[in-house]
Amino acid sequence: MSTREEQRSLKMAESAREADWREGSFLRDLFLGRLRLELIEPYPLPGEPRPEFAVFREKLRRFLEEEVDAAQIDRRGEYPARVILGLRSLGAFGMKVPVEYGVLGLSAAEYIEIMKLVGSWDGNVTALLSAHQSIGVPRPLTLFGSEALKRKYLPRCAAGSISAFALTETEAGSDPARIATTATPTPDGRAFILNGAKLWCTNGTLADLLVVMARDPRTEAISAFVVETGWEGVAVTHRCRFMGLKALANAALRFHEVRVPRENLIGEEGKGLKVALTTLNTGRLALPAATVGLAKTCLELCRKWARARSQWGVPIGRHEAIAHKLAEMASTTFAMESVCDLVAAMADSPDHDIRLEAAAAKEWNTVRAWRMVDDALQIRGGRGFETEESLAGRGEAAVGVERWLRDSRINRIFEGSSEIMHLFMAREAVDRHLQVAGALVDPERRSERLAALPKIAAFYGRWYPSRWVGWGHWPRFSSYGALAGHVRFIERASRKLARASFHGMVRFGAGAQRRQAFLFRLVDLAMELFAMSATVGRARRLAELRRPEAEQAVALADLFCRSSRREVSRLFRALAHNDDVLQSRLGREVFEGREAWLEQGAMGLGLEVGELSPLPVSELMVAQAPIPPPLETRFPLHEVSPPAE
Ligand SMILES: Cc1cc2nc3c(=O)[nH]c(=O)nc-3n(C[C@H](O)[C@H](O)[C@H](O)COP(=O)(O)OP(=O)(O)OC[C@H]3O[C@@H](n4cnc5c(N)ncnc54)[C@H](O)[C@@H]3O)c2cc1C
Repeated sequence: MSTREEQRSLKMAESAREADWREGSFLRDLFLGRLRLELIEPYPLPGEPRPEFAVFREKLRRFLEEEVDAAQIDRRGEYPARVILGLRSLGAFGMKVPVEYGVLGLSAAEYIEIMKLVGSWDGNVTALLSAHQSIGVPRPLTLFGSEALKRKYLPRCAAGSISAFALTETEAGSDPARIATTATPTPDGRAFILNGAKLWCTNGTLADLLVVMARDPRTEAISAFVVETGWEGVAVTHRCRFMGLKALANAALRFHEVRVPRENLIGEEGKGLKVALTTLNTGRLALPAATVGLAKTCLELCRKWARARSQWGVPIGRHEAIAHKLAEMASTTFAMESVCDLVAAMADSPDHDIRLEAAAAKEWNTVRAWRMVDDALQIRGGRGFETEESLAGRGEAAVGVERWLRDSRINRIFEGSSEIMHLFMAREAVDRHLQVAGALVDPERRSERLAALPKIAAFYGRWYPSRWVGWGHWPRFSSYGALAGHVRFIERASRKLARASFHGMVRFGAGAQRRQAFLFRLVDLAMELFAMSATVGRARRLAELRRPEAEQAVALADLFCRSSRREVSRLFRALAHNDDVLQSRLGREVFEGREAWLEQGAMGLGLEVGELSPLPVSELMVAQAPIPPPLETRFPLHEVSPPAE
């Protein structure tokens, strides 16, 4: 991408960013060195379920058990009609539709419980339900739709009309600003004419309704629309197939001269990217929940298999290597669920801004779940790699770990890839500094520098020293009992994280936003501290309420935090001691093909760069994005040591 085009994409993403923060983002404050435990305490343990929800959950559980054969769905690569009909008659497509338009109107916390359940059973059904109501028509309509549009479509969604979210195009993946689908207003202004193509639209082959993002060719502004697939000019051109989620009803779609009435605009004209990104901001909560369900299933399998399978004279669970894996799986499952339930409860509270927490939950849980399925496969040995059908064919229990692995890999790519989630959170990590000191670091705002100096001096004169002088030692946080040491660590580490972000801004100036290695470490640090906070908060609450599982919960939280603290210390050390300079230099060389000789001896793909691009070769832009120049000097302001253990 040329630098100019990159700037255009960044500007567009920036203008679509929700820039206003309601009070109360735990992670945003953490980036500023403020550990605001009051925002997440007391930890919101799920209470008694309301009766309608309990009935629905039980019906769905029974339906999954009796009617949804995950192995068969995977093998056949299709959703059986009875599964779709059954979900419809249960009201599962109306779960998130507000109660005045539908039937269930689940809260975020209730929806998350359902997604855990479904995620523990079948990835294909999870994707079907989630694409429909986390990002499909119900979500953006609830957030941005006019009353008339809600009345027109939400009852249909609740009754079982399946919907989908169509943002991605061949040239617009992580960078939605590259959308080429056009929505041209008609001369009388009463409609838009849609032309273009969308890629990888989950539910696209089944959907009655689509949320489509398209650009006005005159103004370039992107708008969002509800489009009915029955309208003339809407066509599925290809059913996409994948490594996992074999039954996904995923489509490449084409729009040819489709007339969309103006009333079908979602939100304001020209604000479609904001509609899309805001929908994803909270919509992506389904994935962390589904991965909790998967983690629980992995844990159950490995616990039982570790006892059932004996080698070298003892159950494999008695071999230290496997026992350690079991301990890690249990403590990670506890942490993943703590993160997920906390963010779901925050989503139900109007006082919380959960953009960063939802992104952290999505990113952190999907990465942990992927590792956990890999561990489960390892613990199952050869049986982990064998298909359910083959296992059953020779008389063994049909457990599909290889399917779980195939199905879960995409979680780190869709609804915001790992890299994009890091960038999203990193933008917020430096946001306050950019707001205050933007004029100092941004070459484009050079003229404002002098005038901005007093404000900058006033802010940092107070803020910076206070990031050094907090108290993160005994007896503070003693009410956490055995876990108090971990909370003290989080407090010290959060101030250190804030200092590190500030030092980065001073060191890199406006270029900080391009230092992905540096920024991603800050984000990884914040995510670990967030996961630790959620985990200790939950264990503490269970202990306070004297729940029967409290003792184990404290032990799980303790083990998790010990391991997480080592990761935090490693990340802090890596801020100053790393191979970033060498990696950037070598990365550039590989990019330019100077290491291509290493590929000799393999068969080779027989493909040139141009052949890998969906664009015609004549239009292909071999990326010109400047890799930041290597840093020749050591980062001078960085603190080298991690916070005291
Ligand atoms: C099974 C499946 C279902 C999907 N469902 C839907 C759907 O329902 N609706 C929909 O609209 N889309 C859907 N998608 C699209 C999905 O959201 C995209 O795949 C995702 O946004 C990434 O885009 P991309 O694949 O084009 O990767 P690219 O954007 O081409 O990225 C390639 C790699 O580069 C990285 N990268 C990109 N930009 C940067 C950057 N600035 N800095 C660092 N790294 C970067 C990415 O993280 C990735 O690792 C689906 C995709 C799949 C495979």
